[in-house]
Amino acid sequence: MAKPLIVNVIELLRWPGSSKDIAVEVAADDFEFEDARIVSEPIAIAVHMEAITNGVSVSGVAHAAWAGECRRCLTPLRELMQVEFDEMYQPTVHDDEAYEIENDQINLLPMVRENILLALPLGPLCREDCPGFCLHCGADLAQTQCGCVSVASDPRWAVLDALKDVLDDPS
Ligand SMILES: [Zn+2]
Ligand SMILES: [Zn+2]
Repeated sequence: MAKPLIVNVIELLRWPGSSKDIAVEVAADDFEFEDARIVSEPIAIAVHMEAITNGVSVSGVAHAAWAGECRRCLTPLRELMQVEFDEMYQPTVHDDEAYEIENDQINLLPMVRENILLALPLGPLCREDCPGFCLHCGADLAQTQCGCVSVASDPRWAVLDALKDVLDDPS
């Protein structure tokens, strides 16, 4: 298996200020996401690497498709997300956040993998104002109006109701 995300940076490390760009497509399966939301399709990745004094700064963007369902109405969703990253690779890791350069090579895979997983939406919605299901009868409110009366309770009345319950309580 070719390893398009392993980049030799020996030249970069020799010349601070020099840079290198790559653009690759990598099968989603190669990342071993272990997350069913990532669609098994090629992930396009564009990376800009720039040599700085004590390492290589790596920035770029990955396009990965995810699938899931609306958290309110359960409509199936599928979207292409654009994941931007800006990270640091160092021969000897000084910064907690930095990745290691091993044998003059940068392995972009764990870094891109981590950024994609972080970018997955936690509670996706089919649309911002998705009404979801009626709490009373379960009707899909985006498709139908169910006629259940939802009474918006006024917090001032709630206080009085609670007080009345206390007064009514014979014990
Ligand atoms: Zn929805
Ligand atoms: Zn209803």
